[in-house]
Amino acid sequence: MTTPLSHPAVCSQQQDSAGGSLPLASIAQNLAPSATLAINELIAARRAEGRQVIHLGFGEASFPLHPALRAALTEHATSTSYAPVLGIPALRQAIADYLVRVRSLDVSAKSVVVGPGSKPLLYVLLQALEGDLLLPTPSWVSYAPQARLVGRRVIAVETDPTDHQRLTPQALSAALESARQAGANPRILLVNSPSNPTGSMFAPEDVEAIASWARERNITIISDEIYAELQHGWRAHTSPARCYGEGTIVTGGLSKAFSAGGWRLGYAALPKTEAGARLMNAVQALASEIWSSAPTPIQEAAVVAFSFAPELSTYVHRSARIHGHMTGRLYQTLSDLGVPCPRPAGAFYLYPDFAPWRAALAARGVTTSEGLARLLLDEWDIAALPGAAFCDRPEALRLRMATSLLCVPEAGAPEEREAALWNLLEQADGLLANNNPAAVAPLPLPMLARAQERLAAFVASLGAPEV
Ligand code: PLP
Repeated sequence: MTTPLSHPAVCSQQQDSAGGSLPLASIAQNLAPSATLAINELIAARRAEGRQVIHLGFGEASFPLHPALRAALTEHATSTSYAPVLGIPALRQAIADYLVRVRSLDVSAKSVVVGPGSKPLLYVLLQALEGDLLLPTPSWVSYAPQARLVGRRVIAVETDPTDHQRLTPQALSAALESARQAGANPRILLVNSPSNPTGSMFAPEDVEAIASWARERNITIISDEIYAELQHGWRAHTSPARCYGEGTIVTGGLSKAFSAGGWRLGYAALPKTEAGARLMNAVQALASEIWSSAPTPIQEAAVVAFSFAPELSTYVHRSARIHGHMTGRLYQTLSDLGVPCPRPAGAFYLYPDFAPWRAALAARGVTTSEGLARLLLDEWDIAALPGAAFCDRPEALRLRMATSLLCVPEAGAPEEREAALWNLLEQADGLLANNNPAAVAPLPLPMLARAQERLAAFVASLGAPEV
């Protein structure tokens, strides 16, 4: 049996419908691990066979840890007590100060909650808030499964791939209307700019329009801003919380900007209103029953991260530039090959569309994004995720490609690889602020070059695009 890339097979005990002594609850019967984690296992298996897989499957920021964070963690390694459920006061204050200073949000320490990653915080927010979920698509792999796990209906709202995945009030109104006709009660809108999977960012005027639309209808916005620090420089990030503070929750964390996903540290900033305080009580109750607190030493180190001292701010800016450079170069390759793809404005993702080769792919038995991802992996050793894993239509021939691992040297001792990454970060200042890779000498990135070559060979193998 072939393991699907978007919905990996569930384990075999389900074949026993009674479940023997381990019967599964109905909600757990069709659960599958997240597609992003499943692709890692497939790649590891291929690499163990000696194959040189180009890893565009997993979005993990992997620059070395900043020494200031390492020192802070070491200093607090002996802090073994549980922290307060909502986070240590110093960290809640540091995050609030950061959001006020950098994103011009109206946030106080009391309106910030810290958790073990922003992912579980998103889950408890969906659990605590009333109503079904309006979800602009394509969307990050975990939003829809999380919403369904807490019993919410998911209403997809299509965004425009020819215009930076633009989301308009008209599209939102149409989705709201048809959802209501189908008996759903949408009360939450989840937006994610810069976006995983497309790297697109909303234009500031569209953010304002979306926020006004939500305010007029009393719809809560959850704004997942985990990639806000990783802008490529040609489009500015704006949070909907700036114009709809009373109805917007902002989430973020250390995983992307500080290359520290494994530290599991995220936050949510709630409205500073009475309703926000009630929501905070609910989140506190849920968190207290599920994870108790985020790890105490990590929280202490995160205080240093969110202080954004000049050397930390330089580190984050440099990593944003390198991500922008790599993503921009692969985008240029795809564009030169005639592959439609929204121009990434942030994060480290590309979302190319192979529809111009639909007939050529169909002749090879490929009619879905799942089939396309499988073909690329099996025959070209290119690992990417199918658009279907991101709530896209299964027959759309779109893939999500993550560029974040293309700068990590494949060989060498860990210290050598770390030194190479520091060296790369130092070269970031020579790149242009508006990320025009064509205008600067390309950084030497062998894995990126290999990805470019192999994608070019794959597209050439398909013949001329259909017009
Ligand atoms: N939101 C998006 C869009 C992501 O891509 C990710 C991680 O890949 C997360 C949230 C989860 O981040 P965290 O590590 O804070 O749980």
